[in-house]
Amino acid sequence: MSFALHGVAVSGGIAIGRAHLLAHGIEEVTHYAIAESDIDQEIQRFDAAVAVVREELQSLQRAAPVGAPDELNAFLNLHLMILNDETLTETPRTLIKQQHCNAEWALKQQTDALFDEFEAIEDAYLRERWADVMQVAERVLKVLLGRSKSVRFPANANGRILVAHDLSPTDVILFKQQQFAAFITDLGGATSHTAILARSLNIPSIVALHHAWKLIRENEVLIIDGTQGVVLVNPDDLIVNEYKLKQNQWALERQKLSRLRATPSVTIDGTTIELQANIELPDDLDAVNQCGATGIGLFRSEFLFLGRAELPGEDEQFEAYRTVAAAMESRPVTIRTLDVGADKSLDGVEDMGINPALGLRAIRYCLAEPQLFLTQLRAILRASHYGKIQILIPMLSSALEIVQAIDMVKTAQEQLRDANIPYDPAVPIGGMIEVPAAALALSAFLKRLDFLSIGTNDLIQYTLAIDRADDSVAYLYNPLHPAVLQLVAHTIKRASRANIPVAVCGEMAGEVSLTRLLLGLGLRQFSMHPAQLLSVKQQVLKTNIPELKSLTNKIMLAEDSEKIEQLVDRMNA
Ligand code: PEP
Ligand code: MG
Repeated sequence: MSFALHGVAVSGGIAIGRAHLLAHGIEEVTHYAIAESDIDQEIQRFDAAVAVVREELQSLQRAAPVGAPDELNAFLNLHLMILNDETLTETPRTLIKQQHCNAEWALKQQTDALFDEFEAIEDAYLRERWADVMQVAERVLKVLLGRSKSVRFPANANGRILVAHDLSPTDVILFKQQQFAAFITDLGGATSHTAILARSLNIPSIVALHHAWKLIRENEVLIIDGTQGVVLVNPDDLIVNEYKLKQNQWALERQKLSRLRATPSVTIDGTTIELQANIELPDDLDAVNQCGATGIGLFRSEFLFLGRAELPGEDEQFEAYRTVAAAMESRPVTIRTLDVGADKSLDGVEDMGINPALGLRAIRYCLAEPQLFLTQLRAILRASHYGKIQILIPMLSSALEIVQAIDMVKTAQEQLRDANIPYDPAVPIGGMIEVPAAALALSAFLKRLDFLSIGTNDLIQYTLAIDRADDSVAYLYNPLHPAVLQLVAHTIKRASRANIPVAVCGEMAGEVSLTRLLLGLGLRQFSMHPAQLLSVKQQVLKTNIPELKSLTNKIMLAEDSEKIEQLVDRMNA
């Protein structure tokens, strides 16, 4: 049967290929072999997961509020009984030993066997207890997977389309080493870090499809239109041929754009516009060079830290930063200090707070972990000796935080000085404007920092109270909300007046339909994923800034997003 699904378009282009469904939940756990010498360790891993779940259930029992219904206690008792029953916990240990398989697979095999036994029970009440067994098994599985949070991709992904219920940013980093033609997910918002990374892969992708993972089957033929956010499942030949044509057109357009690589980014009226690149890892340098970026406006350093049991030490970080700084030679490299929390969590740090996006994230986390922060700052400063590095601090919200962050940089500098290690003493320190409080209390930033970079992804999230990773509110995520535009315009205007360089490094910077509006607001420095840079350059080359004035003024006076959208369309016409 053919059908279409609609989601949020994340990365343009067209892919045609067969679906590969990514494992998720107990039904789909992956199977891998365990070496003889690691069997005992695997059994211990299983036992430890069972112990964690036991403790979880017992602590839920202890924390039950006075007056909680009796059913709650009965339910927890039943789950503890299931967990303590040998059928669920002893057999998987034997299977690991006999079959040399991973703990997750052993657990799945045993739950499959138990399912058959439950199916054969005549008593309906007892038969329904199967659901409880599954819930307990899922809990154990979750702990097991939590240990090695990253997903496993198939050995040969070539040309396949990855269909996932959800992907974490860490998964997408692993995914970079694969040759998938496209990917789609049920969850996620357009500026979730998963989506941002998808853009950096430069393959079509769509998020927030809701039920794709359930509706699509392994090996079904899919067409992914990453520009329109449409998935066609089992299309007929006529449609496939039509999309092959569109695919060729897209490739031709990309080829044409690549000719702009060395063209200076100057508007019709002669204004030079800095177009810089956002990167996640030193591996992205190739893409930076291919698009002809004049610098790196955002190096999301936290991707060096994700998906690994042990954090990178000072020397490893230094090597990564030095590689990038040296490769860029005299072009600036803006390294953002660790921005973990929200949808990016470090392995082993399970508790990022009740609401991670509003919790101990980014600079807040770094100030709470001074040794970790100092290690990173020393690594960045050491690398500053080999190129043109700037330090960028994420999620600042007050003068005190700025002062504390700058003090930490000074301490790292002193430590290097004492150890006779060279660094650039004039390395500029900048701050991200991502929280409305920062944009509104800008004087504190302008006084203390050397440059600013507007992180519109978070600025929109925090201004509109929309979790950027939550697909259920993705429809409310709107860069053209008047409140967002006021904050962006105000920041650009105040910083320019104070002669403090200001950039936009959120996804708005790479959105061609917003290039003219941002130029009209006075922005002269953009940083975006390399894949978007040449399209933005093309738009810059076609723009005459003085002509944008009257429409920009109208846009800033408009009260609703629909009106603003119409005016932006006129601006781009
Ligand atoms: C932003 O918030 O706009 C930004 C550039 O940072 P990140 O997307 O990594 O949160
Ligand atoms: Mg941000």
